[in-house]
Amino acid sequence: MAASVSVSVSVSVVPAAAEGLRAAYTSGKTRTYEWRVSQLNAMLKITTRHEKDIVLALNSDLGKHEHEAFLHEISAVSAACRMALKELRLWMKPEKVKTSMTTFPSSGELVPEPYGVVLVISTWNYPILLSLEPVIAAISAGNAVVLKPSEVAPATSEVMAKLLGQYMDASAVKVIEGGVQETTALLEQKWDKIFYTGFLDHKQLALFGDEVPVYLYLNKFSTGNNKVGRIILAAAAQHLTPVILELGGKCPVIVDSNINLTVAVKRLISGKWGCNSGQTCVAPDYVITTKAFASKLVDAISSELERFYGKDPVNSTDMSRIINSRHFERLTKLLDEDKLFGKIVIGGQCDKTNLKIAPTVILDPPLDSLIMTEEIFGPLLPIITVNDIRDGFNFITSKEKPLAAYIFTNDRKLKEDFVQRVSAGGIAVNEVTIHLTDPALPFGGVGESGMGTYHGKYSFEAFSHKKPVLYRGFTGEISARYPPYTTRKLKF
Ligand code: NAD
Repeated sequence: MAASVSVSVSVSVVPAAAEGLRAAYTSGKTRTYEWRVSQLNAMLKITTRHEKDIVLALNSDLGKHEHEAFLHEISAVSAACRMALKELRLWMKPEKVKTSMTTFPSSGELVPEPYGVVLVISTWNYPILLSLEPVIAAISAGNAVVLKPSEVAPATSEVMAKLLGQYMDASAVKVIEGGVQETTALLEQKWDKIFYTGFLDHKQLALFGDEVPVYLYLNKFSTGNNKVGRIILAAAAQHLTPVILELGGKCPVIVDSNINLTVAVKRLISGKWGCNSGQTCVAPDYVITTKAFASKLVDAISSELERFYGKDPVNSTDMSRIINSRHFERLTKLLDEDKLFGKIVIGGQCDKTNLKIAPTVILDPPLDSLIMTEEIFGPLLPIITVNDIRDGFNFITSKEKPLAAYIFTNDRKLKEDFVQRVSAGGIAVNEVTIHLTDPALPFGGVGESGMGTYHGKYSFEAFSHKKPVLYRGFTGEISARYPPYTTRKLKF
């Protein structure tokens, strides 16, 4: 027998937990309107009664300011709950559809039904929002659900396990904490839908330094690389489970000269550094502007940054820190590349002890530098200059499709062309990142930035199968349908 194989408690509980959830779902209780409402109300209690616990956990994991914690996570979860509570009856209602001559006389409807027992695998950057919003969606749609929070944000993972355990129906809503081992054990089970948020691809292995992060270990579903998104798909394929992948990518921002510079720069800064220090899937990853406008833009960013974060931004408590030393090392390696020598025009200061990096702007890094080929996911912003602003369109379309793409311009034709030509999960014009706060706009990626969408009613739909139902009586018989197939019937 092998000397010591350490199997975590969570791994050993996985099969029984999955079975328990299946039994709860089969009992039919999660499908009722009343159960869904009771669980949504329980979730609302968690966010209102335990706001302080959540803020503390987010601060411990990410150094998130209370204001940011409330604005970007807690209030967003409460809003999703309130919206689901308000709209649930309507969402659950079958949708009438017009039937055609082929089924005349008949009527038809689309009946939303829960998928069944679903798995939510979440990430660390907005650990509350990106865990609880999919759980709210799954519950609204009447599923039993297991949440696997990210081990990279341990305090938040712990607080969610504790509070969901305390407030929710434990037979149908479970939190299983852990890392790759636990996720692998979960992926071995049969689920009716899997919702994954995280990296598609850890291309940056070497950037993480000597200590290989545990999540880079390959597991039984690996396809010979570290593409976690593909690991999830490979596991789901075993049971033909539908999957939503909320991935990332490099989100570009075109900044034209025909803009309100002050407003544009404030929004750019808020979306980049004001959202978790750039550790946001839809944060501006790089900017494209014209050679003629670049210095004006850099000056405006510099003075606005100073107004927001002072002269010593590394010590500003208004900016989150980097999640852990591994990611800190990854980001400093991006910055230290020889190719960037002399190109840092704002910031560059790094505080290893407190895991803080100042807002940093790099002007015209080589296009083959790591900072231009990897998703940055941190407070570094390269600016690429072009002769004509439309050259930026070609650059963007030559890359993988991003999760979001942005443009700042007053030029109507330029806006239209951008929207038409650039493919991305979503687009915002004269804004960054906040498109995802509007429940009217489905949120999700395309191509390498993901598949499937959620938010607002789309969240309910993400966890529901729209079951088409045809209703007929016993009239409307057409003999041509039945043998014997005579010539006369053929002419009919
Ligand atoms: P992470 O390290 O927390 O990993 C995400 C989840 O995958 C975790 O629960 C983890 O346990 C699990 N996991 C990791 N490796 C695994 C493996 N080998 N096998 C099985 N499970 C594994 O988060 P991350 O990947 O660093 O997340 C950052 C990425 O997520 C970025 O690319 C970002 O753009 C993207 N993101 C996307 C969205 C979105 O909504 N589209 C939101 C936030 C982040």
